Amino acid sequence: MIKVLVNGALGRMGRTVCAAVTADEQLELVAAVDIVSGTVENLNVETNLDAALKKFQPDVMVDFTRPAAVFANVMTALANKVSPVVGTTGLSDADKQKIRDACEVNQTPAFIAPNFALGAVLMMLTARKIAKYMPEVEIIELHHDKKLDAPSGTAELTAKMISEVRLKHKQGHPDEVERLEHVRGADVDGIRIHSVRLPGFVAHQEVIFGGLGQTLTIRHDSTGRDSFMPGVVLACKKVRALKGLTIGLDKILD
Ligand code: NAP
Repeated sequence: MIKVLVNGALGRMGRTVCAAVTADEQLELVAAVDIVSGTVENLNVETNLDAALKKFQPDVMVDFTRPAAVFANVMTALANKVSPVVGTTGLSDADKQKIRDACEVNQTPAFIAPNFALGAVLMMLTARKIAKYMPEVEIIELHHDKKLDAPSGTAELTAKMISEVRLKHKQGHPDEVERLEHVRGADVDGIRIHSVRLPGFVAHQEVIFGGLGQTLTIRHDSTGRDSFMPGVVLACKKVRALKGLTIGLDKILD
């Protein structure tokens, strides 16, 4: 059995992860942590991560907390030689480098996925393939209005993956003027990202490619948080066998 601690256990994702871990035969939910106490899956929720890691000695800490908290949580887990499986977005490139170093120092592997849904990973891989032939592309990501950060980690990763196969260039008219600030969206290597926040959405993304006389759109929709659970469960099972820091569900699919 792989012992799992879930951090952010009282949140929307955390509760769903606790249920998925409990339902899996190879995983054991040994502890639940949040900043407020409560109960989840018949466990009392702990409020001190470091103390809970020492008390319950899990193999894996799943983190679905907040962008402002996730870096400290991951460092605390690694200092206790517990492998983080991270879904929380908002880690910067500098944070990821420090996490990589902490994995090395503590000889403990870690895993981060900006998106744990299989369909979203396939969307990103497909986008990278298409961009080789249709390099003019923009991304629209749509999420529920409780999401704290923008753009989504998925949109940013999609843009970075596309950047691997196309030359950095400015899209649109060379003399284009934004009459309203940010109306053309964020710019990642010339790829525009537009973020929509509305009640009614869960997590969705469109990648639109434009060519001469044609467009091609690929779209992924997570219509429920259960879409992320097979990916989270798989990461819990595989993380201890990884080396250092691994980013992206595609790295552990085969
Ligand atoms: P949420 O409902 O706000 O849940 C976060 C939970 O973590 C809340 O209970 C929150 O408590 C708690 N929390 C905040 N700071 C904490 C800390 N320092 N230690 C422990 N717990 C803490 O958010 P959510 O919708 O579940 O999303 C959580 C994160 O996952 C977001 O960054 C989101 O973008 C990301 N996400 C990733 C994926 C993926 O596939 N990678 C999928 C969905 C969501 P309070 O409410 O009291 O602050």
